[in-house]
Amino acid sequence: MAKRYPAHLVKAHRNYTIEEAADLLGAHLQTIRGWVKNGTLPACSEKRPILVVGADIRAFLRGREIASKRRLGPNEFYCLKCRAPRRPAGMMVDYEMQTDRAGRLVALCEECEGLIFRTLSSDKIGVVAPDLSIMFKGRKPSLDEPDEAA
Ligand SMILES: [Zn+2]
Repeated sequence: MAKRYPAHLVKAHRNYTIEEAADLLGAHLQTIRGWVKNGTLPACSEKRPILVVGADIRAFLRGREIASKRRLGPNEFYCLKCRAPRRPAGMMVDYEMQTDRAGRLVALCEECEGLIFRTLSSDKIGVVAPDLSIMFKGRKPSLDEPDEAA
């Protein structure tokens, strides 16, 4: 389950350094750096120290909460860049197996072409992605193995 951070402590019109944001939210420095590095949390990184706008932190945290509540319909992914549920570009996704029974769907957002993810158990693929064309990476789930001889 995703950790909850106190978004209400963040002042929308203030700029925060990574250290200040980590202190305020009770998060690890590496956690905040990770969000900035993977592009999900916008930051001004042209100058040092790197600054993050309070309003962006709040929007980012709100997006995380929505995503963790999984209020998503079939074929939908939560895009952290668009801050909205989105469908995959071309209705194509990759399924990356993580264990025998779980993995994640990875796709490109149809709007911004950023990466979107959805973690799920493999028996939910049909529910989560009924209309997507899925490319399986790594091991295939043992369920619903296509019958080649048919
Ligand atoms: Zn997007």
